Amino acid sequence: MVIGLDIGGTNIKGVILDSTGIICAQTSVPTGKAIFETEKNILHCIDILQELSHTKKNEVEAIGIGSAGAIDKHKGIVVTSPNIPWWKNYPVVQQIHKLSGCKTFLENDANCAVFGEMWLGNGKHYTNWIMLTLGTGIGGGAVIDGVPYTGRAGSAMEFGHTTIDYNGLLCKCGRKGCLECYGSATAVVNFTKSHMNMYPDSTIVKRSKQESLTAQLVFEEAQNGDALAVYIFNLIGQYLGIGIANLVNIFNPEAVILGGGLSNAHEFFMPQMIQGVQTLALAGMKENIHYYVTSYGDYTAAIGAAKYALDNF
Ligand SMILES: [Zn+2]
Repeated sequence: MVIGLDIGGTNIKGVILDSTGIICAQTSVPTGKAIFETEKNILHCIDILQELSHTKKNEVEAIGIGSAGAIDKHKGIVVTSPNIPWWKNYPVVQQIHKLSGCKTFLENDANCAVFGEMWLGNGKHYTNWIMLTLGTGIGGGAVIDGVPYTGRAGSAMEFGHTTIDYNGLLCKCGRKGCLECYGSATAVVNFTKSHMNMYPDSTIVKRSKQESLTAQLVFEEAQNGDALAVYIFNLIGQYLGIGIANLVNIFNPEAVILGGGLSNAHEFFMPQMIQGVQTLALAGMKENIHYYVTSYGDYTAAIGAAKYALDNF
């Protein structure tokens, strides 16, 4: 048995599975807000997974960790992670090994999502494909001739920080017009806020007075047919189409796979996104592309982290 953990700024997603890829249990716990709290929650997540799957401690052979941010996977260190700021040069592998007694491995979370999709998802049917993880930001991955391309330091494919408007919105990376300012869950929230005054009757306007405005709320209202929500997802789809057309021209993929929390709302933006790619990408590149949403929802990266541990154990 092997455990995979995807550690994000808000939640830790965990899965326990066997070497054939049968998922025995999955769970999510909060990340916490300090080193001690996050360690405690990681151990709690491991305990829940063992309990749910009726696995004894000595049956877990390895733990794979997928983390956001800059990592040194060979040293097992998270160098810096914008969403987990209390992890600075944090030796996550050494700590989790010490606390859990299990051999532990570390990989970048976007790479883990690709490994997960390649192992158990739609990626297994193709040799050249790209993946975009639409969450707070936008992560990416590419499989070229059957091999995930990770770059020199293991952090390639930052699709979120490729520009679609050189004079556009200011990104937290310092550039203008980055794709993640236009096609992420954060973009959904920001565009909704900036368009609210044009839709005074929108249920979103009423709801946002009582609860915090999230992409999930906008998604719920799109399902109710709210005009503002539908408009925002339409816009997001058009922007994603521009970004993905660029990627199609570079990678000439057989398939484009979407993951991350925002992909749950795919029915409201994917048609516009595909239409954008079909309009903008080069002839010879854009034909016969298969579009998918990951079948494992938010757990794809946790599955890939487990696979990474399995392969390196
Ligand atoms: Zn950027």
